[in-house]
Amino acid sequence: MHPHVKKLLELQKVDQEVSSLTKDIDALPAEEQKRKRRLDELERNANERKARLQKTDLDARALDKAVRGSDDEIKRLNERLNTVRNNAEYQATLFQIEAVRKDRDLTQDECLKLLESVEAQRGEAAAAQTAHDEERKIFDGFLAEAEKLRASRAGDIKAARERRQAMTDGIPADVLREYEGLYKTRDRLAVCAVQDSYCQGCYNKITMNDTARLLGGSAVVRCGSCQRILYANR
Ligand SMILES: [Zn+2]
Repeated sequence: MHPHVKKLLELQKVDQEVSSLTKDIDALPAEEQKRKRRLDELERNANERKARLQKTDLDARALDKAVRGSDDEIKRLNERLNTVRNNAEYQATLFQIEAVRKDRDLTQDECLKLLESVEAQRGEAAAAQTAHDEERKIFDGFLAEAEKLRASRAGDIKAARERRQAMTDGIPADVLREYEGLYKTRDRLAVCAVQDSYCQGCYNKITMNDTARLLGGSAVVRCGSCQRILYANR
């Protein structure tokens, strides 16, 4: 085997080790973001329902106040009936009382409807708040677990990366760059075996000429189909 290929193959083992150590950790930020979006959505929903409840409650109180104002006015008008001086004034006051009462009854109906809505909305607001609180607990648990995972892997990852650093000695920079590019784009398999003239990375047949060069061991041979760096599996 060509000495550079031999070194790259060793390097690839360490890189695969690092990849498996970091795989789930690398997925954590995206997962965290996804969960955070859901949490924010639930918070927004809880706040909206709370605001809606507060508004309905205020509206109901305002209507209730208006009803009590009308009651006071009706009382005042009834007292005036005792002091009016003629029949026309008496009739006019009765008419006025009737108008206020009609208005008062409509307002009260509206107020009662709102009070019913307040009850329903109070339940919805409480449910939305509970949903948010529960999701918050789950999210905090996820963050703690993620941190624990990161901390438990940190030592192994650091050690493997340090080992890797030492292993790149003696590999020409351009070959190393080529290997690293392939490692990323070829599904963590940049250096692969040839078995019975077939590249074990892409399963295409390699040429007789490449087989001869491979067995000669004096050149770095690439697969003509997938460009992976090859070694003979003997
Ligand atoms: Zn190939």
